[in-house]
Amino acid sequence: MGHAVLRGRLTAAAGRGSLPSSVLLHGPRGIGKQRLALWLGQALLCTATDRRAQGDALSACGACVACRYAAALTHPDLRWIFPRPRSKDPDANAADVAREYADAIAERVRNGLVYTSADGTAAIYVATIRALVHDAALTPAMSARKVLVIGDAERMVAQEGADAAANAFLKLLEEPPADTTIILTSSEPGALLPTVRSRVAAIRVAPLSDDDVAEWLRHDRVRATLDAAGVPESDAERVRLAHGAPGTLLGESMAFAAERAAALVDAAQSARSSARYRIALHQGAAKARGSFSDVLDAVTDQMAARAQAAVEQMDDRVARAACVAVAAVADAKTRADGNVNPQLVATALLRALRMPAPSRG
Ligand SMILES: [Zn+2]
Repeated sequence: MGHAVLRGRLTAAAGRGSLPSSVLLHGPRGIGKQRLALWLGQALLCTATDRRAQGDALSACGACVACRYAAALTHPDLRWIFPRPRSKDPDANAADVAREYADAIAERVRNGLVYTSADGTAAIYVATIRALVHDAALTPAMSARKVLVIGDAERMVAQEGADAAANAFLKLLEEPPADTTIILTSSEPGALLPTVRSRVAAIRVAPLSDDDVAEWLRHDRVRATLDAAGVPESDAERVRLAHGAPGTLLGESMAFAAERAAALVDAAQSARSSARYRIALHQGAAKARGSFSDVLDAVTDQMAARAQAAVEQMDDRVARAACVAVAAVADAKTRADGNVNPQLVATALLRALRMPAPSRG
């Protein structure tokens, strides 16, 4: 994962007991800050510390139960939050929020693209902050400590009537419980609230070396996604394009997914069946399957936006059709995950994406 020197510094500080309890990892987008934060979390939670001499650097043994849960991102004492689309339920309680994040993380693990950065509208909403403050007060469930990782922390939104939650969060940052470490990450530390910034120890994370980028590019899922997105084929070229921040290459492939989704939605509206079949066939071969799942996510976003717009215009027919389409995309996603050929899935889906003409009010 790279960042070897910084990792050594962090684990040495943790071993001496001098790692600050609230830290901010900041640096350019796409260099693996959240991954680094979660890795540090695993080292802090590893239960094989008995074999460690006093003052030795902490390290994750990789074999204990805590390490295995942490590596699978299912450790109950390693909480990871990041920007999400606005929740349907603004009053969600801590258990609801925990469930929502567990599902979102499980889906990322399934997709093999775990650390993808947040899209434009996602944010960390007040219900999430409230849940985090609530959970920080609990006793650790498995390890001796708790670690809270807050990715893209500048996306925490200040909302009307959220003062109590915001103040409780600032208090938590300033003085976490003795068994708790809080790690924020941000690519835009200047956008953090000054009240947040002044309560954390800022640690700069540098871009990855080209060797580290090359190693990252060797992961099958990463390779397949970049292949499908049409990022230039040669590894050397990809290393050059990444500029030490390979996550940005994936970010571009997400933008490409949104484009393909728009083409799919447009084709569904076309009266000519040849246009529909051409776009369906274009949904590609098996190697693009991971990326087809991204396309379907983007289609969901676009149809949900249409439903919202239709509701605002009180156009019941279009709103109903768009909601049916959203359900059809969810169904298509299940089928695509179940290894059904993307072209077959797309052909069936195109019928469901066809919208009625807007009613004239
Ligand atoms: Zn361990």
